[in-house]
Amino acid sequence: MPLIGFINDHGVRVTFEECWKLPRFAGLPTEVLYRIYLNSISDARPDGLSVTECLGCARRPYLAKREPYYENPRFIYARFRGSMVHSILEDTNKMYKPDTIISEKRYFLKVPGTETTISGKIDKYIIPSQTLEDYKTIDDDRIKKLVVELPEDYIWQSNIYGWLLKAANHIVKNIKIHFFSFKYGYTSGEECLIVAKWGSPEWAKIKPCPVYDHTRIEDFLKHRVRDIMRSEIPPPVGPDKRWICPSCPFKEKCWKEGVPK
Ligand code: SF4
Repeated sequence: MPLIGFINDHGVRVTFEECWKLPRFAGLPTEVLYRIYLNSISDARPDGLSVTECLGCARRPYLAKREPYYENPRFIYARFRGSMVHSILEDTNKMYKPDTIISEKRYFLKVPGTETTISGKIDKYIIPSQTLEDYKTIDDDRIKKLVVELPEDYIWQSNIYGWLLKAANHIVKNIKIHFFSFKYGYTSGEECLIVAKWGSPEWAKIKPCPVYDHTRIEDFLKHRVRDIMRSEIPPPVGPDKRWICPSCPFKEKCWKEGVPK
């Protein structure tokens, strides 16, 4: 079942149709909410899984497939921020010869040994260098941590996008994740301006993104598919990821099922 509308901090729910008649909701202009909605429906996979659903909590996509739900725009504003970066960078495709680049294209691939298809839209793939490029927006206070490690979910996400390119007979040899914060831009594996004070800049190398082989990615996906597409409700997310629960649209239902707080 799909996302059908928004909920604000006071518990007021509006369907999308109701929302489009309002000037604003949950503190955001309706145009911004509409853009968030466009992003949400383009990624919705009623009969398969999106790349995003393959990461994080298995219970959440399990519930999202079974009941209509509302999201608080406060927790999904990042989709609007991300769409700004994607729109701007799409213009840069003109720099490349058309047959050397794949950009903003969705691919579908069945996970071997299952009936589940994974789908995901890749940001950019440079054909001559076999490089997959992924764009992320990020808070400024998370930049220094990128020098020590990349978020595990981002590594898996990029690798699953790379695996999806198998559907078009492309091999990914390199992955570059570009991070955009309010202050500056950063790329995995590159020397970057991690403290953007103009008088005293600080440069450091962002951790490179590893490229996993297809067997490892398919094993990971088989486990995820088994966890999400089962008949009984999956266990809640582990304690290390419990921080995502307060923003989850299913938290009330989920906590009733006995998630330890
Ligand atoms: S509240 Fe937490 S454990 Fe429950 S479905 Fe949402 S993310 Fe998963």
